Amino acid sequence: MENVVIIGSGCAGWTAAIYTARANLKPLLVTGAQPGGLLTTTTVVENFPGFSKGVDGNTLMMEMQEQAVRFGAQVQYMSVVERVDFSRRPFTLTVDGRELPAKSVIIATGAGHRRLGVRGEGELENKGVTYCATCDGALPIFRDQPLTVIGGGDSACEEANYLTRFGSVVYMIHRRDRLRASRVMTERTLANPKIKPVWDTVVEGVLDVCQDKVTGVKIRNVKTGEGSTLACAGVFVAIGHEPNTRLFKGVIDMDETGFIIPVKGARTNVEGVFVAGDCADSAYRQAITAAGAGCMAGIEAERWLAGRE
Ligand code: NAP
Repeated sequence: MENVVIIGSGCAGWTAAIYTARANLKPLLVTGAQPGGLLTTTTVVENFPGFSKGVDGNTLMMEMQEQAVRFGAQVQYMSVVERVDFSRRPFTLTVDGRELPAKSVIIATGAGHRRLGVRGEGELENKGVTYCATCDGALPIFRDQPLTVIGGGDSACEEANYLTRFGSVVYMIHRRDRLRASRVMTERTLANPKIKPVWDTVVEGVLDVCQDKVTGVKIRNVKTGEGSTLACAGVFVAIGHEPNTRLFKGVIDMDETGFIIPVKGARTNVEGVFVAGDCADSAYRQAITAAGAGCMAGIEAERWLAGRE
């Protein structure tokens, strides 16, 4: 019987593991198929406090893991939770085909970037294609270069505005003729002289796989059908996130887009099940906010378990 099973190995999961391990609960963390989560898909993380020169995303996650293990966290590496039964306590999780009883659970399954699914996108990821301007925008390859943001929501606007600090011009490619972002964000974005909207346009491919770097995007105007190429050194895809919460559908309360709705900080509608990080956060989605939420979930789980002894 595990005291705490933590599902997910991003910033939220490891931080919850550090806190519950230090509370002597010997948490079991199930990493999922992508150990380290989204941060392992980026390069340098420059906005995590405490690293004045930045820190490699993989290194940061490895450090968090070592820190948790040092205090007694157990890790089920590359394992995937296939099913959960939260209908009675102890809870039952099916992990790699085996049933695991748990007194409490912390959901930290994160979110994935929605992808365009066009040629060149995967091949050039981290070679000019990125999903996070805050993480990658300041990289030297983007300095004083034309950049492209794809999407028309708040995230795309935020990314575009942020990128104007680095790029020579920021094209904002959107498939419709107006933004879906909030009014204030829309106004700010359209008033920025360095942002050039490209309306009614879809991206059909990212160039140039042969050169192993981004040189432009193949685009098509959906109203005229006309295709063309737009030269740029960076492609920032901001077409939304998909929380990894399918496993909990119908059991844990979530909004219409699948983000878990936390109750009083880190609790959920099921007593003994806690939540942390991007799977419950559609607004901030930063490494530091996920880590903070992991800390909250760890403390909540510890207090809840203590109260039942
Ligand atoms: P979003 O609001 O869902 O917007 C996604 C955008 O990407 C939409 O413009 C959508 O186009 C476009 N899109 C989706 N799939 C596409 C595809 N396959 N190809 C091309 N374009 C595609 O997502 P978000 O901007 O990440 O925001 C998510 C939530 O977080 C929102 O509630 C937002 O308000 C919130 N948020 C708030 C802030 C803030 O307040 N500072 C910052 C960021 C996010 P359509 O418009 O045609 O659907």
